[in-house]
Amino acid sequence: MNGVKHAAIRAYYDTLFSAWGHQHWWPAGSRFEVIVGAYLTQNTSWTNVEKALANLKTAGRLTLHGIRRLPQLELEQLIRPAGYFRQKTRRLKTFVNFLDHRYGGSLTRMFSRPTEELRDELLALNGVGPETADSILLYAGNRPVFVVDTYTMRILERHGIVSGANTYEDIQRLFEDALERKKASTTELASSSSERRTVNSGIGSQDSSHRPSRMSRAERTPLAQVFNEMHGLIVKVGKTYCLKTQPRCEHCPLQKFLPQTL
Ligand code: SF4
Repeated sequence: MNGVKHAAIRAYYDTLFSAWGHQHWWPAGSRFEVIVGAYLTQNTSWTNVEKALANLKTAGRLTLHGIRRLPQLELEQLIRPAGYFRQKTRRLKTFVNFLDHRYGGSLTRMFSRPTEELRDELLALNGVGPETADSILLYAGNRPVFVVDTYTMRILERHGIVSGANTYEDIQRLFEDALERKKASTTELASSSSERRTVNSGIGSQDSSHRPSRMSRAERTPLAQVFNEMHGLIVKVGKTYCLKTQPRCEHCPLQKFLPQTL
């Protein structure tokens, strides 16, 4: 049964990548910026995160040193557009404190930890759940871990691949096992579709890919690259077509994979 699900996930990847190419996710200039973004994006849209990141950048505070030195109230005001700003301020300060005390303020030292051990350490921090921990590992640490988000769950549920009973880890394992075999063809896919833009027409056909950034172009293993691309493509499906209340299946590239009963 899992073989069928794995084949379906690989087919989704091929279809979406052929249609849209690279998504250039995560848009950031540094590993630390990815981490700050991973905290800020909790329970809000990326548009709001961008405003908060822009405030930090303008104030010259989008660095480890900048966040460390910033008084709590000032940090709250700068990240206010991202919502839950008091809670997120505390969480960012907790991360910086953790990094300073555990790794001497060095992300390089932190990312030298084995993936599972580092994941456990991140999950033990206040406000870090699996999605945030895995976003940090994949997009800042270039570790081959798949990030599961609400879009992933919604799409797979609507396609009858998972149910509400499946855990985050079940779905993550499903993607990681399914895409393991994709890594051999990544280079080929990447070069043949480099910088491709949206080609299908209809609702949402405007390109919602991000501009290439230092972090989206960072050197990573082929498997981490596939996980990166798949997550970015799923985010685009979720934001553009697989809406919470009224999915726009008629224009979605994944429509051909919908079960007949829907
Ligand atoms: S919008 Fe429809 S076709 Fe597209 S992923 Fe959602 S359920 Fe599937």
